[in-house]
Amino acid sequence: MNARSSEPDAGAVWPKGITLANRFARHLPGDFYAEVDPVPLPQPHLVAVSRESCALLDLDPAEFDRHELVEIFAGNRMLGGTQALAAVYSGHQFGVWAGQLGDGRAHLLAEIEASTGHWEVQIKGGGPTPYSRFADGRAVLRSSIREFLCSEAMAALGVPTTRALCITGSPQPVARETVETAAVVTRLAPSFVRFGSFEHWASQKRIDELRTLADFVIATQYPQLREEPQPYAALLKEVALRTGRMIAHWQSVGFMHGVMNTDNMSILGLTLDYGPFGFMEAFDAEHICNHSDSDGRYAYRAQPHVAHWNLYRLGNALYPLIGDVDATRKAIEDGFGPGYNDSFFALMRGKLGLAQAHASDDQLIGSLFKLMQENHPDFTLTFRTLGQLPAAVSEADRIAADAPLRDHFIDRAACDAWLAQWRARLALEPARPDAERQAAMNAANPRFVLRNWIAEGAIRAAREGDFSEISRVLRCLRRPFDEQPENAHYAALPPDWASGLEVSCSS
Ligand code: AMP
Ligand code: MG
Repeated sequence: MNARSSEPDAGAVWPKGITLANRFARHLPGDFYAEVDPVPLPQPHLVAVSRESCALLDLDPAEFDRHELVEIFAGNRMLGGTQALAAVYSGHQFGVWAGQLGDGRAHLLAEIEASTGHWEVQIKGGGPTPYSRFADGRAVLRSSIREFLCSEAMAALGVPTTRALCITGSPQPVARETVETAAVVTRLAPSFVRFGSFEHWASQKRIDELRTLADFVIATQYPQLREEPQPYAALLKEVALRTGRMIAHWQSVGFMHGVMNTDNMSILGLTLDYGPFGFMEAFDAEHICNHSDSDGRYAYRAQPHVAHWNLYRLGNALYPLIGDVDATRKAIEDGFGPGYNDSFFALMRGKLGLAQAHASDDQLIGSLFKLMQENHPDFTLTFRTLGQLPAAVSEADRIAADAPLRDHFIDRAACDAWLAQWRARLALEPARPDAERQAAMNAANPRFVLRNWIAEGAIRAAREGDFSEISRVLRCLRRPFDEQPENAHYAALPPDWASGLEVSCSS
């Protein structure tokens, strides 16, 4: 079905009980977006659906058996009574002001009031918009599978993130380094407003629009801030807090975003715009997951610093509303410092099986990262394996008991020394049975993350028309903390064939 149906079909395609809202266009003037229809794709077909995301929308996954729904999420057919929009924003890319960007390949299809809250439904890859510049407005199957799987995997890990509802595909060729095929990933978030949305108006000194946007975000996303004496400073502080928490989560699971440009930073502190992301395997704090990032601006180690830098770009943008440099700076520091540090140490304590805080924790955590930096063990397996070790062990049994972890380290003596430190720290905790602590550690240290080679396996099968591997991976990653013996292969180190995998900005 190539042509969009022109008849109004309100209620015809979307299940009963769904309430469509239209806050974005109702509250924001036309300068904030372009009304633009997606360009239909030939022969759209369903590639994958997330049941969890369906539940967020009160949508029965069985609805996807209807081809109408596939057409809607491929951009071939509109939801009745709605107009698709592309939003304008600007941003700093790789530390440099890039000017106007905007949704070059994303369309806000609809806003839905569900029992779980308010959701913007956005398709990515639906064709060009006035903000596409010289690009084609499309997304390829490869990058859509990566975004879909990672969004859902991150949510299951407890990391703040936008969600993915489904992927639709089409045989339409799309030129990247090689010719690939088109796909559309449908994303959900309460809001897709970015730091760059604010930078856009501030850079043009259009203070009225800047205020309109800030008021809109406060009213719809942060209504509790309306009563604050300084609502705009309070907004900045809250965004800084949430951004700090998000980065702490990233660091604690070894996630690297790859393109932390200010146009990819969510005003809700959600992980946004999955492109050349990666999960740390052999630990190296300098690891760069994005092949296009030759300077390592967005290396693992740099992420907290970059987020802080990005918050200063947002602070600069909000400064005309706040009107005071010190208050602007204070909002960032008061938000980001506790947001990042408190979350990071809380998450790390959980990963180490510590129920209480202790002054020495900083040192214990720091020395573990140093040990990992020197030995490059697999990030996910290191923490998961630590949870198997006993809190107390006799010297006679120690080597055997610690073997599962020691085997990941070349410098066994250094590993032993750190484990001694860890056990001494555990001894300061209120007594609790090993099994209880181990269960708590397993609930903090995932067994499964979306390793690049796992995504690659799903992509290769999908290119051959077999989408079942996407479903298998999704089923596994929606329970990342469960042992799942039947899925042990997804917990394994990268196979030899994956050693040369590179991920770039190309998507
Ligand atoms: P990114 O850093 O990948 O999130 O994208 C930066 C900017 O480029 C955003 O404004 C995107 O909408 C735009 N963009 C990226 N790829 C495309 C594409 N294939 N077609 C149109 N715009 C694109
Ligand atoms: Mg982006």
